Amino acid sequence: MLPVGPLELSAEEVRQLWSFIHGDIMDGSMRRLLRASVGLCPRHTWAYAVVEIELWQAGAGARGGHQPFDVTVLYEDLLEHVAAGLDLKTSLLHRHPDEVLLPVGPCRICADMASPSLPGLRMGYANSNTKALTVEANGLAHTTAWCGETIPLWRGRVCPDCDPDTPKGAGDPELLCRFHLTARRPLPEPLRHAVASRLREVRGRMRHLTESMTDYGAPVGHEENASWIEAVGFFAGWGLPLYLAGSPREAEPGQETTEAEHGE
Ligand SMILES: [Zn+2]
Ligand SMILES: [Zn+2]
Repeated sequence: MLPVGPLELSAEEVRQLWSFIHGDIMDGSMRRLLRASVGLCPRHTWAYAVVEIELWQAGAGARGGHQPFDVTVLYEDLLEHVAAGLDLKTSLLHRHPDEVLLPVGPCRICADMASPSLPGLRMGYANSNTKALTVEANGLAHTTAWCGETIPLWRGRVCPDCDPDTPKGAGDPELLCRFHLTARRPLPEPLRHAVASRLREVRGRMRHLTESMTDYGAPVGHEENASWIEAVGFFAGWGLPLYLAGSPREAEPGQETTEAEHGE
């Protein structure tokens, strides 16, 4: 789990994620691997979104860039995968339905970071200036804007166990993230179905968001814009958006007040 704080990605992480974004996540075998590992680890799930949003400048749709397009495509698939798993009937012959929450196999990015790459892949993607890209990604400017614009919608949907403002054990269990649901296994059947239908509701909004980032999709509103944060929050915990939403940004107006008081 990620603490409530910034990511501070290394140049190597940015390089790996940048090349992951350029790869084909829809490829059948990659898709199976990503389902089995339930996506990436928490750090690299948020890092994946951050690297795409901060660094991808040209895209389709109203924003035209700095938007989580690859991320929503992958998480649409994983939301349905997990929802379908949670909705399965308990049976002695098969693994328990809530085991769909548990990753089988390592995070793709962690694995690539640990193994010495093939010589030809050692260079950054298309000789990108990885150091400059890393500084830009760690600035989090666009990710902070996405989280800030949508906070009135997602703030009440944060996993209660991730949220430092919720007393321990309180809050709606339907809102629990993947990790905090895992900690409560075996999950009662009504809770499994309730979580599955919540995930499908998020996915429904996220599909519109994905379409809005193509040439043919209609523009969307804040509910759709909030959907990817809720999806990634479910898979990777809420540390990053809680940090970004709590960042102090009132420093400058505060200084003006001090000057005015001084003048009188
Ligand atoms: Zn990882
Ligand atoms: Zn949580």
